[in-house]
Amino acid sequence: MRVLVVEDDAGVAGAVVDAVRARGHGVLHAATTTEAAELLGEAELVLLDLGLPDGDGLGLLHRLRRTSAVPVIVLTARSAEHDVVRGLHLGADDYLVKPVRLRELLARIDAVARRVPAGTAAPGVVEADDVRVDLDARRVTVGGTETALTATEFAVLAALARRPGVAVSRRQVLEEVWGDGSMAASRSLDVHVAALRAKLDRPGLLATVRGFGFRLGR
Ligand code: CA
Repeated sequence: MRVLVVEDDAGVAGAVVDAVRARGHGVLHAATTTEAAELLGEAELVLLDLGLPDGDGLGLLHRLRRTSAVPVIVLTARSAEHDVVRGLHLGADDYLVKPVRLRELLARIDAVARRVPAGTAAPGVVEADDVRVDLDARRVTVGGTETALTATEFAVLAALARRPGVAVSRRQVLEEVWGDGSMAASRSLDVHVAALRAKLDRPGLLATVRGFGFRLGR
């Protein structure tokens, strides 16, 4: 597996890179969010530090989750519960608080890798009925015909398509797409879901889960 280590502390990065490589994985290293953004497309798993010199790792995770289902393990010195919850809501697959014990990190990598279904290591294509969502190419086809979505409509659909058949909470969609759960964003979500349903034209495929959120797929 190709692991992208996003970590600006040279000492931590060196130790993590060596350990991951010794486990037999390929390793890429980025010390900033800018470098990380350039390498994300090649990664099959991302180890993401939150405190980076040119930005916040959570911001990077938020942007990443609009287009990619690559597994992400957040590594951080922050142990505040708020950060943990926010990281998981933004789509982190797991979370480790520094100082990271390398054996535990490798075990977590193995666990996350096992949860990625075989054949989806290059993930990004989700099919529900005859709706096909290509998360990497940002293309959606319905019955084989490409459907033009706005960037926000696509982001909402992607948030659901990354967990096909699973109910996703309104709050999670709001966090992933808008980065907040304000009333204004919440109303906007309903507008975009209605527009998506009209464009997909597959009644019942994008279901409302009352009192909770939405689900793509039956
Ligand atoms: Ca750091």
